[in-house]
Amino acid sequence: MRCVLWTYKCARCGTAYEAPEPAEGAYGAFLMRSAGKGATVYLNALDDPVYEEVTAILLDSPHSRGMTARQRADVLQSLFGVACDRDSDGSEFEIGRRPACPTCGSCQPKSWEVCDPPKWIDEEVPTVSHEQWFRLGEQERKAVVFRRLHEIMHRARGSTEN
Ligand SMILES: [Zn+2]
Repeated sequence: MRCVLWTYKCARCGTAYEAPEPAEGAYGAFLMRSAGKGATVYLNALDDPVYEEVTAILLDSPHSRGMTARQRADVLQSLFGVACDRDSDGSEFEIGRRPACPTCGSCQPKSWEVCDPPKWIDEEVPTVSHEQWFRLGEQERKAVVFRRLHEIMHRARGSTEN
């Protein structure tokens, strides 16, 4: 896959490091990173049937009725990992997870930008898989998404109270 390198600056230890992202203009293309070792898988949201299915479940949820389209898109991105097979270390893949700092392991860089001048690379990235998800029945799939949605709503409420 054609990727462009981004440069990140770690908020904790100041290390500058680089990591690939799908090239700009690849609409619907995401790299998902695992919460454990930070492995990457590729998601093409436009032709992943599970992405569409999870979107439909979310739209069907009472929680999503008061949300703006933007909020719904954010929620979809943060819960989509529940419908994906986990990394070999058992951790979940997440859309939008920042690459970890190679020095201290923090995933919260203080800044990131496309390398200037741009650096292009071709990365071999496996496509996200959904074998576990496909083993679930329709009701179980809904339950999995609703449970995660509930956790996200709960966390969001907690953070506005603080
Ligand atoms: Zn660091």
